[in-house]
Amino acid sequence: MLNNVPFRNIKHGELTVEGYSRAAVQTYWRIPELKLGFDLGAHPWDFMGTPNWLLSHCHLDHVAALPLYVARRRLMKMNPPTVYLPAYAVDPVRQMLNSFEKLDRGRLKCELVGVEAGDELELSRELVIKVLKTKHTLPSVGFVIFERRKKLKQEYIGLTGEEIRDLRQSGVEISVERRVPLIGYTGDTSPPGLDDNPLFYECKILITEMTFVAADHRKQLIHKNGHMHLDDFVRRKDKFRNEVIVAGHLSTRYNKKQVESVVKKVLPDLLGGRLKLWV
Ligand SMILES: [Zn+2]
Repeated sequence: MLNNVPFRNIKHGELTVEGYSRAAVQTYWRIPELKLGFDLGAHPWDFMGTPNWLLSHCHLDHVAALPLYVARRRLMKMNPPTVYLPAYAVDPVRQMLNSFEKLDRGRLKCELVGVEAGDELELSRELVIKVLKTKHTLPSVGFVIFERRKKLKQEYIGLTGEEIRDLRQSGVEISVERRVPLIGYTGDTSPPGLDDNPLFYECKILITEMTFVAADHRKQLIHKNGHMHLDDFVRRKDKFRNEVIVAGHLSTRYNKKQVESVVKKVLPDLLGGRLKLWV
């Protein structure tokens, strides 16, 4: 394994969250089992095998490694990736890639898909992406990844395989769609990113930001800058129904020990052990 940039990982059930995020430094996450990742502020070499990437906004610490990622997949003879990003950013990002094609003298082939809040996209038969509006200092979005399952309708449970087949062949819709919100990713946001999208609280795994934790850091300014403070989590602690809450994007003003000791003072059980501080 070539560890050119750091990342941590945590396994929860069938899914693994891998990544790292520090404010103004770099943010990148991926769920290898779902073949998708969020933001490309840097690019661990091992991440190139993930073919779909979802970008929350275009601050440099969230997108700077996009050309590297595209180039590495070409170098390793992998298919061009698909990158979902806010619609307004598609043209400038394409131009940026075109510039790097000239500078680097290599093709940077990738599919750029513009998204808007409210969109629903099919990543595969099983996975659906919902795009949600967040609140940052520039237009930004978050994402919820649903697993879509077909389930036999209640009234047909107990029928034999043959009966079910006959019904299906006669054109009867025998199943209903069931959606499970597996992953929520807020990107950078102030509290309205959560409050306006209660769906985030329902995701099995929520990956979000807690940029500030110190009591003397002024919340108003933090919110104005499109970020969240530990107190915002404390105030909403009964709303989180997630099985795991990954809180990253911590300010470089704090080291790991400071973050842990401040958070444990106000949330001693770390929301029943569900809150993972990613520093
Ligand atoms: Zn940002």
